[in-house]
This record gives sequence, C-alpha cells and structure tokens, in this order.
Amino acid sequence: MVKTISVLGSTGSIGAKALGIAKNLIIDVAGLAVFSNVSHLEEQIREFKPKKVAVFDENAAKRLKENVADLDVEVLFGMDGLCEVAAMDGVEMVLNSVSGMVGLRPTLCAIDAGRDIALANKETLVVGGSLVMERARAARIKILPVDSEHSAIFQCLQGCHDKKSLKKLILTASGGPFFGKNIDELREVTKRDALKHPNWSMGSKITVDSATMMNKGFEVIEAVWLFDVLADDIDVLIHRESIVHSMVEFCDNSVIAQMGVPDMGIPIQYALTYPKRVPSIVERLDLAQVGKLSFCKPDNETFKGVDICRAALKVGGTMPAIINAANEEVVGLFLNEEISFLEITEIVQKAMDRIKAVNSNSLDDILAADAEAREFVIKNFKK
Ligand code: NDP
Ligand code: MG
Repeated sequence: MVKTISVLGSTGSIGAKALGIAKNLIIDVAGLAVFSNVSHLEEQIREFKPKKVAVFDENAAKRLKENVADLDVEVLFGMDGLCEVAAMDGVEMVLNSVSGMVGLRPTLCAIDAGRDIALANKETLVVGGSLVMERARAARIKILPVDSEHSAIFQCLQGCHDKKSLKKLILTASGGPFFGKNIDELREVTKRDALKHPNWSMGSKITVDSATMMNKGFEVIEAVWLFDVLADDIDVLIHRESIVHSMVEFCDNSVIAQMGVPDMGIPIQYALTYPKRVPSIVERLDLAQVGKLSFCKPDNETFKGVDICRAALKVGGTMPAIINAANEEVVGLFLNEEISFLEITEIVQKAMDRIKAVNSNSLDDILAADAEAREFVIKNFKK
C-alpha cells in the first residue's frame, strides 16, 4: 500500500472521493491540483496539509496564495505547476483525476519522475495511449486503472499469467439516462436530462459522455492500451444495474466478473492498496436486495459513441486525439446549450471525416491534432 500520494483534480468527483479514501487509510497527501475552485481547494489544504498545490488558472492561484499565507504550502499555477505537482519528490503515486486531455502532460511528467500512476483521467490514454504506455514500460512505472470497468478487468486478471488464455474483455455499460430512447425522442432531450445519470454521480463532462456512449467508446480505447488487446476482442454489454463492473472471458469459455455497489471508492482504493486488499468505507453489496441483474446488447445505431471510437482507433495515429478534442469542445457547447444532444456525436463524426490524422504518437503531433480539432469545432459550430 502506498504511503504518500498527490491528487490532480482533487476538487472533482473522483478527486474528492479519493481524499476521503486516503484519509481513511491514513495515506499522506503531499500535492493537490485543481483548475480554479480555490475555495474548495483551500478547505482541502487546511485538512490535508499538502506541501505543494497547483491551480491551473493563474488569477485563482494568486487569490489562493493570499488566503493561505498563514500555511506552509507552495502555490503553483498553469501547466508547469500541474507538472511540478505530478513530479514532486517524496510521492509514491500520483492519482490523476483531472477531467480532459489536459491530464496528458502531467501523466508524462509523473512517469518521467518515476512515480506510479492511479489513472482516472481516461482522456490521457485516449489521446496518448501509445506514447504513455511506451514511456511507462521503459520507466517500469505501474499504471493502475481507476475507471471502474478497467479496475474490474484488472482485478479479474489477477493470477492470469498467460495472455493467450484471454478471449474477450467485456465492458459493461449502464446505458446512461437515455437508454431505450429512439432518435426522435433524443431530439427533445435537454442538458438537464443528460446530467441525470441513473447510477453514478460524476462530473458533468463524463456524465454527458455516458449519455452519448462516447464514454464507453473511450473506455474501449483505454482498455486497448491498458491491457494490450485488440479492439475487436473487447465487447460492450449493457447492464443497467451497474453492479457487474466488467468481465473477462477466457479461452475455456469461463467468465470472471467483478461486482460491487456503484461507488468509485472501490476502484480508487484498489489502485492505492494494490496488490493488497484492506477494509473499505464503501457499502457492502447486498445481492439479495439487488434481486436481478440484466444484460443486453447496446444500440450502437442510435448511440454512435462506441462506433466512432472504434473507427478512430482503426485509423490510428492522431485520430483518437482528434475525436477526443472535438468531443471535449462539443460537450462544452452542449453544456452551454449552444447545440442539441444529437449534434454532439454528429459534430465529432464530422471532425473525424474532415481532419486528417498523422501516423505519429509524438506529444507535439498529438497536441497539434488536438488544437486543430478544437478550432474546427469552434469555427464551425460555436454560436
Ligand atoms: P469533475 O468534473 O468532477 O472534476 C474534474 C477535476 O479536474 C476538478 O478538480 C477540476 O478542478 C480539475 N481540473 C479540470 N481541468 C483542470 C486543469 N486544467 N488543471 C488542473 N485541474 C483541472 O470530473 P470527474 O471527477 O467526474 O472525472 C475526472 C476524470 O475521471 C475524467 O477523466 C473522467 O472521465 C474520469 N472518471 C470519472 C469517473 C466518475 O465517477 N466521476 C469514473 C471513471 C472515470 P476545478 O474543480 O477547479 O474545476
Ligand atoms: Mg467507467
């Protein structure tokens, strides 16, 4: 079990939960980073007493610095600040739970500094999977999944030493708030409807991604890199109850599933205590109370997210970075009520059709692809 961590995105849904888990396990929190929510960060600083914090927004960082002048904490800002917290001395593991591909560079900085990573920030692997895994392997860094499906698969694979015995990874998906709706019904849905996830309480960006199924598509890409498997060997299965968090099918047709209540506390804690298991503050699973578990095929015709991501993976190179950036911008427009729900995946598809990917995994090429896709969306679709 780790003794000291830093948490990037500490004011978010995952970050705040992770601090609760760390507190219960008496893990020291040496670094924190956020975008701009300095009032929440200040509370966390007073409680956890980190040595360094980073606030991406420079003005917010200045405000925080004045407010915590009585404390022994260094306040940094911008991407450099984020990277400094990601690479700071004396930290064994960096929990990256920022939202969006802005998490890529801090992930690389943590790897270069020799820190293990608990990765919630899936966009890191969507846009830079090849680069990140290559560097992590070379530096012998562990990347432990926090995303519940990937944690489930990772847990199911413990004790499996023969990759040839794997047949399929089966990612479960709740189907989100619009499961069962047809295209005509989806024309009417609003931002408020999209933000009502049936089982999970999460940040707004990932909640919208769950509604479009882009989240599940990103998770297919994430699984390809984390587990070194082909996308064709990853199936997606709708499971409305979110109790089975994912499964692995072996060559003898045996299937192992990981279950638990839908609470991110379990995968977060497993990443922090791996390979150990210790008692948790998360509620027990009472299957008699759940009663029934159901499964069915996803409707990929209506919810295009998974197919878009599979197509982007096939193109390869910088295409996943292009669709991710387009999606980040488009979700922003949707949350601003500038576009409709159905336009989200339509515009991401257009970005994929219009923008040419390059066959490269260099950080510069990834960042250039990201910038081009964002500009495409803003120029053509922002009102
Ligand atoms: P939230 O929106 O709740 O939180 C995002 C966090 O990241 C906030 O602390 C925010 O700071 C911070 N942040 C955003 N941009 C920056 C930046 N440029 N620099 C520094 N910090 C930044 O998101 P979630 O916690 O829901 O999700 C975080 C990540 O985890 C995402 O990648 C998501 O896909 C993944 N994930 C989340 C799950 C969940 O249950 N929530 C499940 C599985 C994966 P501020 O508060 O100041 O804005
Ligand atoms: Mg997930």
